[in-house]
Amino acid sequence: MSPALHVRNLGGLLAAEPAWGWRTDRELLCAHGRVLAIGAGVGPALRSLERDGEPVAVLDAAGLLAVPGLIDGHVHPVAGSVSVVPPGHGWTDTYLNAGVTAMVSAGELTFPGFSSSVLTPEAAARLAANSAWAFGNIATPPRVYAGTLLAVPELDREHFRQVAQAGGKCVKYIYYPFAGRRWEAEVAAYTKWADEFGLVTKMHAGGTSYQGHSLEADAELVSAVAPRVLAHANGGPIPMDDQALATIVERTGCHLELILGGSLRVLRDLVGLLRERDELHRITVGTDTPGGNGTMPRGPLQVVAAIAGLGQVDAATALRCGTENVARAHGIPGGALAAGQPADLLLVGPVRGSSHPTVASALEAGEIVGVGAVVSGGAVAALPGRYTPPPAALPTLETP
Ligand SMILES: [Zn+2]
Repeated sequence: MSPALHVRNLGGLLAAEPAWGWRTDRELLCAHGRVLAIGAGVGPALRSLERDGEPVAVLDAAGLLAVPGLIDGHVHPVAGSVSVVPPGHGWTDTYLNAGVTAMVSAGELTFPGFSSSVLTPEAAARLAANSAWAFGNIATPPRVYAGTLLAVPELDREHFRQVAQAGGKCVKYIYYPFAGRRWEAEVAAYTKWADEFGLVTKMHAGGTSYQGHSLEADAELVSAVAPRVLAHANGGPIPMDDQALATIVERTGCHLELILGGSLRVLRDLVGLLRERDELHRITVGTDTPGGNGTMPRGPLQVVAAIAGLGQVDAATALRCGTENVARAHGIPGGALAAGQPADLLLVGPVRGSSHPTVASALEAGEIVGVGAVVSGGAVAALPGRYTPPPAALPTLETP
């Protein structure tokens, strides 16, 4: 276990309590992997740690703001940090260095040897359970919530149980053959078992993916399946038409995931529609990578900036779309700076040379911000983040 971490000299922070928003607190304390105290609570908590003889590292934030670590709600991991599309190694570390402290798999469908044409129920369950187990045992950040059961015909309750027991989080409709067969009763059973075992249902939206054999879903089909999360609602990479999306927004309560690799025009319009309906809590953020768009370490941060800048959303709410909304949609911890939450946070500021003086004004102008430090599980994981340009001031760390 790493020492406790006292983050001080903050320029403020984005807090989850008592309401989501910016606060002027200048310090926070992390211990045992969690946020222990924020603002006025830090002094007493620090004295208590010192009485117990616990070592405390000090991170001087140099006036940067603390925000929750970003959560990429849509990745396609294979094994550890290995990517096969494009081939490479270390992609999860590059995302961490652009502020991503957690990610959620939307299917391990680029696993070498994988083919949707031989995806039997047994193979789908084994692939997901194996991934959940393997990623669940990786200690290095970012956290990867893997183990997504790819929905195919003739899965049974035991397959759902097996995946959930291994730590899997999602069920994904991407290859399921809806066309030309009666699927309603089977999908109803899948929804029931997903709910029973705490798995989140996701569905591929819009035109087919780069592999060319994923389903094409329209408003009728999405409304009938009623997934919890509509993956890449602005296109992966091809979106549904505007009317179909408006119908889904109207008829369902699903989360709408936005990615950088889809249509930015649709992102802007969808955010505008949800803003007018006061339903921005339905937005989640992802990258849908590694895949046809390559890898995108800064993807989540850029989507947050696009939500703010193109969608005319205040920066605090835009950041919430890429943090707490993703956690809530997937039933995972994190995404919020509050006592008891995982201590996954970033110290951010306008990039050196930006014409915008604050984090909020930069994001609302559609710019990314610089990541001065990434804290994961209460330990400094990047100082500064290597995959954003640096903020004007850089934090410094004193270890005990
Ligand atoms: Zn995907």
